[in-house]
Amino acid sequence: MLSINQLVATKVLQLRHEHLKKITGKEPKLWSEITEFDEYTIITIVIPTRGCSWALSEYGGCSVCGYVNDSSRDLSIPIPTILSEIETLLIKTETDRYVILKIFNSGSFFDESDVPRNLRENITKLIQKYPHCSQLSVESRSEYVINYSNIIEATKKAIKPAILEVGIGLESSNNSILRDCWNKGMRVSDYEQAVHILRKIGVKIKTYIFVKPPFLTEYEAIIDSISTIDHAISQGTDLISINPCSVQNGTLAHYLFKKDRYQPPWLWSILFLVSTTKKKYPQIKLICEPTAGGKPRGTHNCGECDKKVLRYIKDMIDNQPVPSDYSKICTCVVRWHTLITSPIELFRTTKLSKLR
Ligand code: SF4
Ligand SMILES: [Zn+2]
Repeated sequence: MLSINQLVATKVLQLRHEHLKKITGKEPKLWSEITEFDEYTIITIVIPTRGCSWALSEYGGCSVCGYVNDSSRDLSIPIPTILSEIETLLIKTETDRYVILKIFNSGSFFDESDVPRNLRENITKLIQKYPHCSQLSVESRSEYVINYSNIIEATKKAIKPAILEVGIGLESSNNSILRDCWNKGMRVSDYEQAVHILRKIGVKIKTYIFVKPPFLTEYEAIIDSISTIDHAISQGTDLISINPCSVQNGTLAHYLFKKDRYQPPWLWSILFLVSTTKKKYPQIKLICEPTAGGKPRGTHNCGECDKKVLRYIKDMIDNQPVPSDYSKICTCVVRWHTLITSPIELFRTTKLSKLR
């Protein structure tokens, strides 16, 4: 069900319009990569379809998301070009290994105004044609799962024995935070319903959790992410993807960042979240690949220890040993600790960047 804070949505929309106007005419690009791991291969392809309908709606989309900047809006990349690129990647990976095809359209795969039916159905046919592909991973907002469960079920059947995985952005299990901070346009119950449907169909579920929206302090963001992870796991998600927010052009987060009223989360917060989740749920598959990690617009620390902490986050995910005393990694952990343990009011009026 649509849940809107009109003040926030109006600002998000205004910023979105201004930015999209600025980049009108920018050539959309197909981007792809093949990554080989010991036991499996991942094909990742970003297809610049029309763009997320929520971002292009009269409510402007999520407050931190700039994916629509890279979409075509008018679908100027022809469908045969997209299909031929996917086929080339599938041919290149014809091995006995487990091959995962990850398709990102920066919106919802089951939204036909974003991904036309013709394109979606032909992708399904390609997976039938190349049975070495063992998994198709796509993304969708909850409402398209709820409204098009029949299409999801048909897709799952059509690609069998390959597995279908659907990623859904939950971001927060708190309705007020979803509405006032993320401008997510959905309620927690929509996510719950979508997960229920996917479980019934037998689809693998990945839940995305963005960390630290505008208007939350570092501490509030950590607490909210912990309860959101708890909630997603209680609903039966198979994977959790922890995504620290980065500052993307044309978003509310960018607008506030320029005024020094928004800072992406510290890497310490992300390390803490990963470690807490690992300890609480050792059986859950966790992903955390920070965008712009260590850069000013991404999750970062003091600048001296960023690379090290990014590596420790990866090690922790891979069950490798990580020092338990963070002060031995870098002394800036003391500043982070002061930030999250001090009275919240202090940091509502303090420029966070000055604390780093
Ligand atoms: S986060 Fe997802 S739902 Fe929100 S605007 Fe971006 S693509 Fe759309
Ligand atoms: Zn440091």
